[in-house]
Amino acid sequence: MLKIQSVTNALEQWAPPSLALSYDNCGLLIGDPYRLVDKALVSLDVTEAVVQEAIEKQANLIIAHHPVIFKGIRSISPTTDSQRAIILAIKHDISIYAIHTNLDRVNDGVNKALADRLNLTNRSILEEASNLFKLITFVPTKDLLAVRNALFAIGAGNIGEYEKASFFTSGVGSFQGRSSSNPSIGKAGEFTEVKEEKLEVLLTDTLLSSALKTLKEHHPYEEVAYDIITLHNKNQNHGSGMIGELSESLSSDDFIQYLQERLGLQLIRHSASIENKIKSVAICGGAGFDLLKNARQKGADAFVTADLKYHDFFEADDSLLLCDIGHYESEHWAIQEIKEYLTRNFANFAVLSTTINTNPVHYSISIKDGKGKKD
Ligand SMILES: [Zn+2]
Repeated sequence: MLKIQSVTNALEQWAPPSLALSYDNCGLLIGDPYRLVDKALVSLDVTEAVVQEAIEKQANLIIAHHPVIFKGIRSISPTTDSQRAIILAIKHDISIYAIHTNLDRVNDGVNKALADRLNLTNRSILEEASNLFKLITFVPTKDLLAVRNALFAIGAGNIGEYEKASFFTSGVGSFQGRSSSNPSIGKAGEFTEVKEEKLEVLLTDTLLSSALKTLKEHHPYEEVAYDIITLHNKNQNHGSGMIGELSESLSSDDFIQYLQERLGLQLIRHSASIENKIKSVAICGGAGFDLLKNARQKGADAFVTADLKYHDFFEADDSLLLCDIGHYESEHWAIQEIKEYLTRNFANFAVLSTTINTNPVHYSISIKDGKGKKD
């Protein structure tokens, strides 16, 4: 058995809550973080049927992408499906955790799952997050490696596909401790000069507090000198949407068919076909229209997302094919991603994927011979 907190800590290593967008409500929504659990059910949404499935399969934790509590609740009564789900979960002591826009904004989350299905290569983030800082500290030469390695161990110094990136320059530090001080080098009240290294590493905001704690634990000085500088650099690992390339260029019609086949889609709403072939494809699972400008800037030939409105399609000109594949259809691939992540991290913890299609949108498609087709 594991504490819920162990499971959620692992998920938050992957998708730090600080990456979530301000309107979001991710995290442990129902339950006690210290409660023991042995089986989780992963789903895109928490519906009454999903909670029922968790009860039947004896899963005591549901991990969902969409938060079942989102806009705030003034009362709980069985009037809507989500409120019935909440009541049922509490009655059966089932905890619910949401991993939402934080999973949208890591490079191995929701968009990675969609990019995998589309076999996109040469991937990068469509709109990189800017949450980078530089930590600069001054370490006696003999302690440089210990401090640097400790910072690397918590994830400092990650740049794109590289880790353990740092820089140091040698110099001479000076200090004079007051009578109440207890210097590790020199004596209180004595002016001291020490050969030091100026060490610089990159940090994300999620690492700031642990980096300072680690620095103070491993640095020999009573008073550790450091600077934290906010950077304008973009974070290559975190952000919204993704862009990548198809293995071969496709015409608009062939690309639509490719989407249908790869993603098992019944319906794609899209802008007019474009003359150029499609090679570079931007994607954003869920509602991603705001990223159209980024898709354009990065030279995408097509932008695949969901929840587009009528007027949004007018924004696609003849150089870009805009496709709405459906919200559920763009995101449900992440269920497997979450399941695999937890299975990799915990040997004795059962993780199941829901067998329920929670898509609330159904399609009735009229076909040319006049007969309607229902899903
Ligand atoms: Zn979504």
